[in-house]
Amino acid sequence: MKKIYLYGNWKMNMTCKETKDFFVRMSSALEDKIVSDFLGKELEIAIFPPFTSIAAAMENKGRVIVGAQNVYFEHKGAYTGEISIPMLSELGCTHVVIGHSERRSVFNESDELLASKLKAVLSAKLIPVFCYGEKLEERESGQTYDVINKQLTLGISKLSKDEIERIVFAYEPVWAIGTGKTATPQEAEEACEYSRNLIYKLSNGAGRIIILYGGSVKPDNAKELLSLPNIDGVLVGGASLKVESFLDIFKFYKK
Ligand code: PEP
Repeated sequence: MKKIYLYGNWKMNMTCKETKDFFVRMSSALEDKIVSDFLGKELEIAIFPPFTSIAAAMENKGRVIVGAQNVYFEHKGAYTGEISIPMLSELGCTHVVIGHSERRSVFNESDELLASKLKAVLSAKLIPVFCYGEKLEERESGQTYDVINKQLTLGISKLSKDEIERIVFAYEPVWAIGTGKTATPQEAEEACEYSRNLIYKLSNGAGRIIILYGGSVKPDNAKELLSLPNIDGVLVGGASLKVESFLDIFKFYKK
């Protein structure tokens, strides 16, 4: 059985108290046989809370990975409002989301900035979860693969094979994020297969390429998506805010 990655992006949700409550509920839910038997070996669970809730998550995380939703590439200095890699490492974060579509579109983060962040995170031996994907108008005008090509090429082409093998990639078609509209299994599989081939080429033959799918993943559509050969796991927004809907994603896959 392939290892499944179940990652939850909380976005700007969950106070410290709500985070603590979530993890308390999560640790008893993780005792469920279907989940606990697989956790670690065949199932990797990660939660990405907002910065202010990371410490509360760490205190109660058990076997769950806790990461950050963003980071700046400089280690310190006059960058008001930013958070650095040493700050995250000190809290115990091992994973950082880079290039979520909301960072790209709402906060205008460019491909060049994201490449700098990727490099800095990898140099610090953290694991980046690198998001990419096309907007609706780009898909409708037949530019899906051009967009994927551009975002991946500008993101990783200056990295070494070893660095690329440490990245968790997340293909997230923007039109499917938070909209309730999931890519069809065929659309998701085709985009992830294309990405895998491209990453292989850009890295000169990476032996380990992990690609998640994200975009309105829920318990009732997860099984089909997770069964696809080029999808290693899912990055989940809305459904990760409740323990039940989050863990049910894996249970549905296993049933
Ligand atoms: C996301 O935030 O990365 C995401 C995929 O959100 P949602 O599952 O709500 O579409």
